[in-house]
Amino acid sequence: MMPPSHSASSLAKPSWRRFGSKFKTLSKRFSRSGILFVVSAPSGAGKTTLVEAIRQTPNLFYSVSCTTRAPRSGEINGEHYRFLSDADFRAKLKAGDFLEHAQVHDDFYGTLREPVLTNLKNGVDVLIDIDTQGAAVIRNCDDPIIRQALADVFIMPPDLEELRRRLHGRGTETEKQIERRLETAAREMERWRDYRYTIISGSVEADLEKFRRIMAAEGYLSGRMIQK
Ligand code: 5GP
Repeated sequence: MMPPSHSASSLAKPSWRRFGSKFKTLSKRFSRSGILFVVSAPSGAGKTTLVEAIRQTPNLFYSVSCTTRAPRSGEINGEHYRFLSDADFRAKLKAGDFLEHAQVHDDFYGTLREPVLTNLKNGVDVLIDIDTQGAAVIRNCDDPIIRQALADVFIMPPDLEELRRRLHGRGTETEKQIERRLETAAREMERWRDYRYTIISGSVEADLEKFRRIMAAEGYLSGRMIQK
């Protein structure tokens, strides 16, 4: 086969230069919609540290949940949770402010709808850290923006004994609370197949690396591209 012929002018410039400016113009013609990263993990699976690290990602909004649970030592209102009284939580529920809510152990937890939707509409990625009940509600949500944006990730603890060690290690729960959390964890671990992604938890660094790869791949989905 004959090699393709080139004109003198096209040979004069290296091909990457010729195409570089074209790609720049092309990339300006594309933006993408926001991604809703829903992460669930049984307590003690190392999720808190992982979520803290992911929260540092630029152009990512972390949805601070509302809860009726009492703050643990070191938890800051508005940063880790919005700590609400039962009455205030119920008022928000009645007003339809929650995208989802669930009772976990003895307390209520809920995700505020408005900040999630506003950020997604503005092309900002959103991260929410919720239990498997809340994730199921979001998965079954009718809102087309939520359906299109959703990327759900389950963090699977290596095993229950490791989870027990981690819960003892952090020392924020009583023995009875630990047993209760382990029962919930065992139930939650059965739900991993409902999620698009599962990360088998190893070190925080390894989990973070895997999560970052998921974030990157989700950002390249053609369905998320918007041509201007
Ligand atoms: P913790 O009390 O240990 O912070 O959280 C207990 C559980 O509640 C975790 O599984 C956590 O992911 C979940 N959770 C936190 N915020 C929300 C929320 O807004 N909605 C739901 N459904 N679960 C939540």
